[in-house]
Amino acid sequence: MDYRRFFEDAIDQLHAEKRYRVFANLERIVGKFPRALWRTADSTREITVWCSNDYLGMGQHPAVIAAMHDASSRMGSGAGGTRNISGNNHPLVELESELADLHNKEAGLVFTSGFVSNEASISTIGRLLPNCLILSDELNHASMIEGVRRSGAEKKIFRHNDVAHLEELLKAAGKERAKLIVFESVYSMDGDIAPIAAIADLAEKYNAMTYIDEVHAVGMYGNRGGGITDQEGLADRIDIIEGTLAKAFGTLGGYITGSKTVIDAVRSYAPGFIFTTALPPVIAAAATASIRHLKVSQEERRLHQRQSQLAKDVLALANLPVMESQTHIVPVHVGDPELCKMASDRLLEVHGIYIQPINYPTVPRGTERLRITPTPFHSDELVVELKEALVEVWTALGIPFAKDNLPVIETNTRVVTLAVSKAGG
Ligand SMILES: *Cc1c(COP(=O)(O)O)cnc(C)c1O
Repeated sequence: MDYRRFFEDAIDQLHAEKRYRVFANLERIVGKFPRALWRTADSTREITVWCSNDYLGMGQHPAVIAAMHDASSRMGSGAGGTRNISGNNHPLVELESELADLHNKEAGLVFTSGFVSNEASISTIGRLLPNCLILSDELNHASMIEGVRRSGAEKKIFRHNDVAHLEELLKAAGKERAKLIVFESVYSMDGDIAPIAAIADLAEKYNAMTYIDEVHAVGMYGNRGGGITDQEGLADRIDIIEGTLAKAFGTLGGYITGSKTVIDAVRSYAPGFIFTTALPPVIAAAATASIRHLKVSQEERRLHQRQSQLAKDVLALANLPVMESQTHIVPVHVGDPELCKMASDRLLEVHGIYIQPINYPTVPRGTERLRITPTPFHSDELVVELKEALVEVWTALGIPFAKDNLPVIETNTRVVTLAVSKAGG
């Protein structure tokens, strides 16, 4: 066995498929969001980031940084162990009650990441329920797929956001069998929203449990930032609401909220919760400060929606192939992995704009894209600058504009026809 050769071949395969990933060396600058330093071997340049999941810039919010400073000066850096052994800490307990309140649930449980929260919770619930059938949306995030896989439970995949298909599967399973429906509220690559009320209706009708991933909605939607379930008044109709502290809340960690009993069961049985060091008090305190701020402040959400809509409109008017999206996420279709990487490189090198290419397996082949995430800090001027840079890159690389592209785009990656009509085509 030539070990080295084996790994080289694995990497070469990614190069051959033009989807080898390269990460830019960036350093964010407090007070200048969304600006960052980009370091290469021979230079350091200030650039604009257009693909951050720090959706509201809370990672640099003064209240969040102050909470972090305060906690570190009082409690130091680490947690000191797993929560089982010696790592339970007051800021974490406080954070969990803040989260339970955010989603109107009895209890919350914090994990070291959103990935771990999904993997640990779904696998544990699926394993505890006897002969459980898990019904999973086909576009669910990798962390949910991992949870489903590790549960050992039987699974059925329903077509994306297709309630008729979900009902077929629920009906076939029967009312008596234990069933868990797992889905997301906002799907982060297309920016579409699940039919949550209809799924809750079906869950009631067929006596199934529901588990929703609100990672791309918490902080950003709802009057208190409780996500789409908050916005639509549906939190009470979903059994488990999962979220992250790492995106709109700007820190790190993941969580679930639900009834006391389910939360206690996951706390007591999930290896991914039990056998790993707790989130440090500094992070917990910062997350709590962020959640508390966004529970009362509407300004970030208002500006976020405004700048996202502006970006969609401005890019579409320039005939760029903006894909349909119901949310703050602005995907722009490229349709080829190599072109997608080249577009990203050119944006950075020529225009000082950072947008990571999104290629297979994150999205289906043929739907490669640039995924743009405007924040409240992307000014109108920056939006116009982005539009001009994209038009230059699309022209230089010969990437199809919206009009050329329309007939061949299908499924959930439809190019918005609005872009064409608005552009007068
Ligand atoms: C990012 C993401 C996660 C994982 O959250 P982290 O806190 O980054 O680990 C889970 N679900 C979805 C849909 C995500 O996009």
